[in-house]
Amino acid sequence: MKFVLTVTRNTHHMGLRRGPLQRCILGLIVMGGWSMPMPSPGAEYGSPGVPGGFGGVVTTSEPTAARVGAALLRDGGNAIDAAVAVAFALNVTEPQSSGIGGGGFMMIYLAGEGRTIIVDSRERAPAGADPNMFLGADGAPFPFPLRSTSGLAVGVPGMLRGAELALSRWGTRTLAEVLQPAIRMAARGIRVSRRLADASASPRLDNEPGDPVYDAARAVFRPGGEPLREHDPLIQPDLATTFRLLAGRGADAFYRGAIADAIVAAQQRGRRDAGSDGQARLRGRMTHQDLRNYQPVIRNPVSASYRGYAVLSMPPPSSGGLTVIQVLKLIERFPLGDEDAGYGFGQARTLHVILEALRLAFADRALWMGDEDFVAVPKTGLLHEAYIAERSVLIDPGRRADRVSPGDPRPYDVAGLPSARALAGLREAGEGGINTTHFTVMDAAGNIVCFTNTIESQWGSGQMVPGYGFLLNNELTDFNAKPRANLGAGGFDPGANDVAPNKRPRSSMAPTIIFQGEAPVAAFGSPGGSTIISSVLNVAVNLIDHGLPVGEAVDAPRLAQTSANGRPFFEPGFEAAAIHSLQQLGHDLQDDRLRSIGSVQAVVIEQPAGRRYGAADRRRTGGVQSLRAHRDGGG
Ligand code: GLU
Repeated sequence: MKFVLTVTRNTHHMGLRRGPLQRCILGLIVMGGWSMPMPSPGAEYGSPGVPGGFGGVVTTSEPTAARVGAALLRDGGNAIDAAVAVAFALNVTEPQSSGIGGGGFMMIYLAGEGRTIIVDSRERAPAGADPNMFLGADGAPFPFPLRSTSGLAVGVPGMLRGAELALSRWGTRTLAEVLQPAIRMAARGIRVSRRLADASASPRLDNEPGDPVYDAARAVFRPGGEPLREHDPLIQPDLATTFRLLAGRGADAFYRGAIADAIVAAQQRGRRDAGSDGQARLRGRMTHQDLRNYQPVIRNPVSASYRGYAVLSMPPPSSGGLTVIQVLKLIERFPLGDEDAGYGFGQARTLHVILEALRLAFADRALWMGDEDFVAVPKTGLLHEAYIAERSVLIDPGRRADRVSPGDPRPYDVAGLPSARALAGLREAGEGGINTTHFTVMDAAGNIVCFTNTIESQWGSGQMVPGYGFLLNNELTDFNAKPRANLGAGGFDPGANDVAPNKRPRSSMAPTIIFQGEAPVAAFGSPGGSTIISSVLNVAVNLIDHGLPVGEAVDAPRLAQTSANGRPFFEPGFEAAAIHSLQQLGHDLQDDRLRSIGSVQAVVIEQPAGRRYGAADRRRTGGVQSLRAHRDGGG
C-alpha cells in the first residue's frame, strides 16, 4: 500500500528515493517546473506549496484570506473560528466566487471526538418555486445566460446561518469577533489580485445596464466603467456596513429587517432584455418568509474504504461525495500506481480506466442524485460491493465503451425507492461553472475544516443588493432546467434534481477527508462545478495510488469527465503519447477541450508523526500559512 506520507517510494519523474519532508521540499523546488510540463491555463496565478509543521495550517485560493485564518489560529482560535473568518475574508478578496449571498458545505473533523460532520448551508429554493419555473412561454428553458443572471436563479442564501451554527456549536469566538478582519479589509481596502482584476472584465457583469441591482455590482467592481486593475486598492464600504450590522445583531440582521427587505426587492428583478415574457417569468420568488425559514442542516458524510483508507465525503444534496467514492470503488480492481503494468501517473491505462469509471458514475449521478430531504437517493446501493462489481466489469481496459447508461442500484439498497421500471435514456447534465472556492484549515489540536463555499457562477447572478455590497447567488441553476420526473410514463426517472419548494439544488461540491485507521491523513476539495468530482478524484488517486507529495498531487495535470457520454476535458502537461493512446482507445481528446480544471486546497498529515503539509493550487493565486508549534523546536 502506498501513501505519500507513510511510504517512501521512487517516482519515475524524480528517480529519487526520499522521505516525506525531503519530498515536500523537492516538491517546492520543482513546483515551477513540474517535470512533466505543467503550464496550465491558470499557471500565471501560481503559488507553491509550503512545508509543514505541527501547528495549524490554512490553505486558501487567495493569500490574504490565508493570513486572516492564520492570525485567528495564532490568537488561540480553533479551526472552526479560523474557517469562518477566512470565509468572510474571501467575500472581500474573492467576491466573484463566494460570500454571504451564497452557501456551501463545511466539513468539520472534531479531533477530540474523532467525529466528522458537515454543516450544510446550501441555498434552498423558495417556497414558491416549481419544477417548470425556468421554462418560457414556449415550454423551453430560458437560455442559460438569461436564467442564470435573473432573480429566479437566486436561492435563499445559507452561508451566514451555517457560520452561526458552526461557531455556536464548535467555535470559541463570536460572529462579531471573526468578522473583524473582513470588516477592516472591506473598509480600509485590499489590493486587487490578478484574478479579481480579470473577473471584473468578465461579460457576466454586463447585464441590464441602468438597472440599479446590476449597476450596484458594476459600481464596485467597474468603477468609472473600467475593470479593476491588479494591485489597485479596492474599498467596499457597503460590504463593511453589512458586516458591521452582522457583528452587531448576528445573522438575524441578514434574514430579517432592512437587509432582508433589500434582498427580496433585488431578486424580484426579471430580465428586461428577455422581452415581456422574460421580464415577468424570470422574477425571483423569494419572500421574507423564505429568508426567515432558512435552516442549515448538520449531515453525516458518505464514506467507503479505498485501498485500506477511509474516504469521507459530501452526501446529498451534493452528488460530489457519492460520485467520487463510486469512481474510486470502480477503479479499485485496477493496479493503479503500478508503472510497469502501465498504470503509473499520466499513463494511458490509468487515465482510461478513470475516464470510463467517471462515465459510469456520472450516468448514475444524473438519474439518482438530488436533495435526499425530498427524494430517496439509493446511497447504500450506489456504493454496494455487488453493485460496484456489476458496474466495474463494464470498464474494458482495451477500449472506450460506446454508450454508457445508468445502472439500477435499488436491489442493493434499503431506502424505500420507487419500483423498478425501464431506465429511460438520459439527457446529460450541463451545469457547473468555474467559480466557487475551497479552503482547508487545521488547528494545532488537530481539528480540520474542509470548506467549499459558493455563489455558483462567477459574480453569482450578477445582482448586488444595493446599499449592502454583497452579491446574490444563482445556485438554483444547478436544478434541472426542465423537469425530468416521469414516474407515470413508460420510462423511469425519479426527477431527483427537479425544482421543488424549499429543496436544495444538486451540487458537485465534495469536501473530502481521508483517514488511515482513526487518523486523518488528507483533507481537500475544489471548485469547478461538475468538474469538482474529477479534481477531487485526481488528487485522491495522486496521493494514494501514485504516492505524490501533496504539492505535486495538487498541481499535476488533471482530466475531467462530466457526463456519461460527453467528451472529456483535460489540461496541458500530459505526455503526447498518453493522449494519443487515449484517442486510440476511443476518447475524443482534442485541443478544444484543453482548459484549467478546478483549484484544490489541501492539507496532508503525516502519520503517526502528525506533521502537517499544506498546498494551494497554482491554478489560482494560492495562499498557504503554516504555523509553528512547540514540537517544531529548532528544526
Ligand atoms: N454550483 C456548483 C455546485 O454546487 C459550484 C459552482 C462551481 O464550482 O463553479 O456544484
